[in-house]
Amino acid sequence: MKIHKYSIKKSINFLKKNECIGMPTETVYGLAANAYSDKATLKIFKLKKRPKNNPLIVHYYDLDTLKKDCHLNKYFNKLFKKFCPGPITFILKLKKDSHISKNVTNNKNTVAVRFPKHPIARLLLRKINFPLAAPSANISSSISPVTKSDVEDEFGNKIKYILNGGRSVIGLESTIVDVSNKPKIIRLGGLDLKNINKVLKLNLKYKFKNKIKFPGQTKLHYSPGVPIKLNVKIPKKKSAYLLINKKKINDKNYFYLSRKRNLTEAGKNLYKTLRNIKKRKFKLIEVEKIPNVGIGQTINDRLKRASTK
Ligand code: AMP
Ligand code: MG
Repeated sequence: MKIHKYSIKKSINFLKKNECIGMPTETVYGLAANAYSDKATLKIFKLKKRPKNNPLIVHYYDLDTLKKDCHLNKYFNKLFKKFCPGPITFILKLKKDSHISKNVTNNKNTVAVRFPKHPIARLLLRKINFPLAAPSANISSSISPVTKSDVEDEFGNKIKYILNGGRSVIGLESTIVDVSNKPKIIRLGGLDLKNINKVLKLNLKYKFKNKIKFPGQTKLHYSPGVPIKLNVKIPKKKSAYLLINKKKINDKNYFYLSRKRNLTEAGKNLYKTLRNIKKRKFKLIEVEKIPNVGIGQTINDRLKRASTK
């Protein structure tokens, strides 16, 4: 996708004035602001209606910029080399002289960091001399946005600018790995856990019912506001049915995440499809069984959270 120089310039101007903007990334669209500024980061919490104790992920261009703020270690280095830029977030120890705003970390001595792969996000990050705090650009606990128009849906004219980067190619949030101590998986995401384990030569697992430390890990999340039922073989007549295999019946209430059981494709389509269904005012969403492997694990995690009442 071609990017007009003017849009980058405009984005930079807003960011420098401590405003929030919509930013495309390969995972989902972010609501971005200067991570070094208390004023700018506070605006993120207000706009999203996000609890203050849910810390933000900070987006960097490269290692040189990261080193100013965080202590690196061998686990980070291995994973960085293999997967960055890409859909992985690291929890690292903050340096004492880091400039990251206390709002971002909720006053903790750790910070979540990521290197987005989207070329437009990278271009923007390269041209500014501060990292960007950027949680997903949606009202807290609603569905994450994967296009510019989804961000408009969420915030209307409440945000100053949205940088257009087309549709997010991964369509699911990043996988979060805590490497501030012994490695631990904090959230499933767009990078298959198997790949992380291969690089670290470990067998890290993710438990759905782990102790909740931050509101972002709570159950009701990514929610279309409609009850969701998983592992449904035969759907009710009036419900929206999410599928990953092509069915012979051609029902208008059938929504295909994939027609050929491709879990990566299903992940990419998940939020867009949930948003469509929400707009069409269905009272119930039913979901065909999705294999709990690879990205399927992430899809099931999101659906489970979205379906918890
Ligand atoms: P998001 O809502 O996509 O911006 O992701 C934010 C999530 O990252 C939080 O809900 C936490 O699970 C995790 N996170 C962010 N900062 C920290 C931190 N300092 N320590 C541990 N986890 C963090
Ligand atoms: Mg989010």
